[in-house]
Order: sequence, then C-alpha cells, then structure tokens
Amino acid sequence: MHELSLSREVAAIVGHASAGRPVAVVELRVGHLRQVVPDALQHAWRFTVKGTPLAGARLLIEEVPVRLTCLDCHQDSLPGHQLGFDCRHCQSPHTRITAGEEFMVVAIEVDDPDQKGVPDGTLPPARR
Ligand SMILES: [Zn+2]
Repeated sequence: MHELSLSREVAAIVGHASAGRPVAVVELRVGHLRQVVPDALQHAWRFTVKGTPLAGARLLIEEVPVRLTCLDCHQDSLPGHQLGFDCRHCQSPHTRITAGEEFMVVAIEVDDPDQKGVPDGTLPPARR
C-alpha cells in the first residue's frame, strides 16, 4: 500500500519541521499522476500518527490535475481519453507534463495562537 509509505514520509517531514510543537493542519499538494487515493492516504495518515505527537493533525489534500504544454504550438492543455498525452490543439505528440507529478507538503499549521498561518511553508523557529 503505497499511501502508507507516503504518509510515513509526510509524518517524518512534518515532525522535523514542527520541532515538537502541536500540529493542527498539514497541507499536501498531490498530482494526479502520483496515483494517490485521497481516502486511502487519509486512512494511512490516521494510522501513521496514532499515538505520536502528530496525532490529531488534519491532512488537507489538494489534488492537482495533469497539465501539458505543447512543444510545437506552445499551448497548455489537459490530457484526455481520446488523445492521451497528445496536444489538444494541434494533436502533436510532442508535449511536456507541467503539472500533476507533484507530491509536496505545502504548509503546516502549528496549533499555537501566535504562530498560525504559514502560507509559504516556512516555519518560525521553535520556542525554547
Ligand atoms: Zn500543440
């Protein structure tokens, strides 16, 4: 079950970044090409963090659709059933994937009234 190993990776990243502070929310960005099932990832997350300092942290999963850029006509398109990964506009097979492969922790909300909201994903230093 690859969601379980992904959730363990996320827990390791978040545990390191939060430096022992309680975490309320973990925001993930997951591209469709990663073939992650959001429900399975949520389930794996609850299992992974149970009994750890991250227990109770909510996982927010933002799913990112696959996007292509055509190397011939330079237009963006979404892949589809008929043309697969070919360009929607000129049918060229010369396309590049520009979104849909990501798997990243984009933000962590630390459960501390002074340190809420870290939209750029950087965390303030831990309190001593
Ligand atoms: Zn094209």
